Amino acid sequence: MITRFSKTFLIAVFALFLLGSLALLHPPSRTYVDTWTGDFFGEGGFIPPSPEQGVRGKVIMPKLGNATAKAELGRATWKLMHTMTLRFPEEPTQDERDALTNYFHLTSRLYPCGECAAEFQLLLKKYPPQTSSRRAAATWLCYLHNQVNHRLGKPEFDCANLDATYDCGCGDEPLGSSTGGSANDPMDLERDPSKDKKAQGLVKGGRAAMS
Ligand code: FAD
Repeated sequence: MITRFSKTFLIAVFALFLLGSLALLHPPSRTYVDTWTGDFFGEGGFIPPSPEQGVRGKVIMPKLGNATAKAELGRATWKLMHTMTLRFPEEPTQDERDALTNYFHLTSRLYPCGECAAEFQLLLKKYPPQTSSRRAAATWLCYLHNQVNHRLGKPEFDCANLDATYDCGCGDEPLGSSTGGSANDPMDLERDPSKDKKAQGLVKGGRAAMS
């Protein structure tokens, strides 16, 4: 004679067996994140993060309390970034444009002054990097720096003086010699699609033909 308890126990075991079999027949179809390792899983197993995620992520560094270090770091970084845009190709390939865009996004993550980086991220969101030409990139960065100057109560820099201020003696063509719209108009930074097409023609194996 089977007791009531044994009967309930058997039904429970059978139900568990049935659920287990169903789970084996239908593996999880949704993606999920392993809360322990932070790894991302999908139907095919582990999904590595895309490079895009690394470039566009959040600020990594903590607050920088030392005002002197903050100012020195700022001056050095602006010098590097302005010189970089002023040496950028006149007709960059897509690969070169991506490199510059990613550089600014990575800088906005890794800049050693966390609070500055957070402000920089907001600026990049509002004014995305302009990379269609040297002039576009240099004028865009000058405009962005002026936005920071404005926030910090510093005087506005005249972007017409970029060449004179950042002449590295490298013999580069001055900005003023490039054709196109007004070099001083920060709103005139839209991509020039005809230029993009021309640049695509120069690309071979991800590199532009150098003149
Ligand atoms: P800087 O602004 O460092 O400029 C250096 C030189 O660049 C100037 O002397 C001038 O010759 C030239 N210059 C000035 N404006 C321009 C321009 N628009 N285009 C081209 N050249 C120009 N500091 C904070 O306290 N808070 C912040 O949130 C902060 N955010 C920052 C974000 C970024 C991305 C960077 C790179 C720096 C940031 N800083 C911040 C530092 C700050 O911008 C200054 O670098 C620092 O205060 C020193 O200022 P400075 O007066 O010596 O001149």
